[in-house]
Amino acid sequence: MVFEEVGRPLALVERPIPTPEPGELLLRVLACGVCRTDLHLLDGEVEIAHPPRVLGHQIVGEVQSSGIRVGVPWLGWTCGECRYCRAGQENLCVRARFTGRDIDGGFAEYTVADERFCFPIPESFPNLQAAPLLCAGLIGYRSLRMCGDAQRLGFYGFGAAAHILVQVANWQDREVLAFTRPGDEKGQAFALEMGASWAGSSDEAPPEPLDAAIIFAPDGALVPAALRAVRPSCPVVCGGIHMSDIPAFPYDILWGERTVRSVANLTRTDATEFLELAPRVPVHTHVTQYPLEETNQALEDLRAGRFEGAAVVLP
Ligand SMILES: [Zn+2]
Ligand SMILES: [Zn+2]
Repeated sequence: MVFEEVGRPLALVERPIPTPEPGELLLRVLACGVCRTDLHLLDGEVEIAHPPRVLGHQIVGEVQSSGIRVGVPWLGWTCGECRYCRAGQENLCVRARFTGRDIDGGFAEYTVADERFCFPIPESFPNLQAAPLLCAGLIGYRSLRMCGDAQRLGFYGFGAAAHILVQVANWQDREVLAFTRPGDEKGQAFALEMGASWAGSSDEAPPEPLDAAIIFAPDGALVPAALRAVRPSCPVVCGGIHMSDIPAFPYDILWGERTVRSVANLTRTDATEFLELAPRVPVHTHVTQYPLEETNQALEDLRAGRFEGAAVVLP
């Protein structure tokens, strides 16, 4: 399923099986998760420099040379030489290449991936349930780490990432309050079912001030809302790759050493840590599946909020 240009649905095309370069693995795709970032790419909010491109960056694949099952995340290649790579911040590598943006991804029957960016999938996870771990889980986990040891967490937007992270947070004996779109009662019920202690609308104040907030939804207006909900000294973490403009807000709500920060991409350390943690929790992902040729439907259902949890495409 190929991205050709902004504003057009992905095109179903027949391509030859790709040939791996030295250091790459040929993978038969077993499942590939759908991510909000795929919508940003389709809409041109995140640029694809060299189309056509196969999207999809939560790949569960079988290595054709060994039969081993691996996962391929968004971070697909780093230079290893720039100041960020050398400082353990490869998520900020100036020459980084991203799966399903700069490198063909997993909305396909076969793909190739740099073997240094392939991670063993925990055995206890079926293909379908493993796919959402690879972006929703990994980058969500990085966002959660940015909250330090905050006890009472607010999640703004309760989609694929939040439904995984609420399970991790509960396992760590932390509390999660879920903030959804006003009127999204189904989303609020889902959040409570997955382990949130409270669920309400994003324009509501929490019953007690939060120790940290993570914004998963791509809505800039949630930044001042979350700043109003956290107590002094506490962070508001923006977990997405794109967000609409943040409206002006009074300095008063940032005052008290509150912080606003973004989370960019992931490092291989995040991947290793999270994939080791997920089976111990254990994380259960709530998945809606689509055949590969219905990837566009999966994307539109994500846009319209027609499912809870995560969507996964199966070749
Ligand atoms: Zn993603
Ligand atoms: Zn680099």
